[in-house]
Amino acid sequence: MNILILNAGSSSQKSCLYNLQDTLPQNPPEPLWEAAIDWTHTEGVAELTVKTKAGLWQEAIALQHPSDLTQSSRAVTGKMLQTLWQGSTSVIQQPSEIDAVGHRVVHGGQRYQTTTRIDPSVKVEIQRLIPLAPAHNPANLEGIETVEQLLSQDVPQFAIFDTAFHSTIPEPAAIYPGPYAWVAQGIRRYGFHGTSHQYCAERAAQLLNQDLADLKLITCHLGNGCSLAAIHQGKSVDTTMGFTPMEGLMMGSRSGSVDPGILLYLMRQQGLGADELEQLLNKQSGLKGLSGLSNDLRTVRAAIAQGNTQAQLAYEVYIHRIRSGIGAMLASLGGLDALVFTAGVGENSAAVRSQVCAGFAFLGLALDAERNTAMAGSGDVAIAAPGSRVQVLVIHTQEDWQIAKACWAAL
Ligand code: ADP
Repeated sequence: MNILILNAGSSSQKSCLYNLQDTLPQNPPEPLWEAAIDWTHTEGVAELTVKTKAGLWQEAIALQHPSDLTQSSRAVTGKMLQTLWQGSTSVIQQPSEIDAVGHRVVHGGQRYQTTTRIDPSVKVEIQRLIPLAPAHNPANLEGIETVEQLLSQDVPQFAIFDTAFHSTIPEPAAIYPGPYAWVAQGIRRYGFHGTSHQYCAERAAQLLNQDLADLKLITCHLGNGCSLAAIHQGKSVDTTMGFTPMEGLMMGSRSGSVDPGILLYLMRQQGLGADELEQLLNKQSGLKGLSGLSNDLRTVRAAIAQGNTQAQLAYEVYIHRIRSGIGAMLASLGGLDALVFTAGVGENSAAVRSQVCAGFAFLGLALDAERNTAMAGSGDVAIAAPGSRVQVLVIHTQEDWQIAKACWAAL
């Protein structure tokens, strides 16, 4: 069976096609076809990259209607999907060979707690939730509608919500201590990166050769966006992101949690409005804002090596926030079997892993320094020292594979 996955972000669209048999493989298989659209490099141009066994293929597509982003993004997404059955990148003969489509949808609100077959009412709800995820839910809807136009209406499409995995968080961790009216208004912690946290938890159990039901895990998704999840018996019991993906850890260009009084102060003293505050907190904060350099940790670390003290401060705040977040997750779990690092920073930065872990030596957690540096980048690995009371794992997150598994199970 061929399962197509669409994973749309605010400035990129990633997609892949898996060919699956009746039983799922233990390890994530290579997709038959992978494609990505990047909107960020040149204005008015979308860069399309397609990877198949036959090799890598790239095209810069000049947007026909640069001022109409929706129309442009539908056209380019359509073009990307056509490379599945047309030209040198084709891996199938015709669209009807696609058996199901899985979409990563960022916000599912309180209604969607599991894989959901998309019908008109689900689309209405994704639309209704746009104010809660303005950068993502519109792109997710566009992907769904582009697929509807290109493939037969009979092909089942599924939404896999980033929020769904966190729907098990108990109320004391999910409800904000504001007025009680917020509860009825749906102002509560939803949590994000759920597909990644769930994949890492399941993969951790596999690597540890233990039943997920017996494990207390903290998964650290450290990419451009950063979040932690506390996972007990395979269920999320707490997470650092909240009502929006702005809460919690310091991120690439997002501040994470700040005293809400700072926002009131800026509104009153500097006359900032909602759009300016959003820009400040989402785009001008975090590693980028504090270092004054970049949202990319590699740039920040390179500057530290040159003696840049502002970059050093940004890095120290970043580490402090992860440690204090782990402290909070520990309290929600009441114990810890394994700490899992994933995403761009988590998978690649031995320095971040080592400095974060150093804060938890009192738990009996000890890293094997050599494994931490030498084995990173070589697949999923255990990096705790022999005898460490807590296991430490580096796992390459595979959200698309998790979505494919969910579609396979739903079918
Ligand atoms: P996204 O949240 O956009 O999916 P990723 O998970 O791809 O992000 O993470 C991107 C970030 O990972 C980059 O901005 C960079 O800070 C970090 N990163 C990637 N490779 C390395 C590396 N070798 N060392 C340190 N940080 C890295």
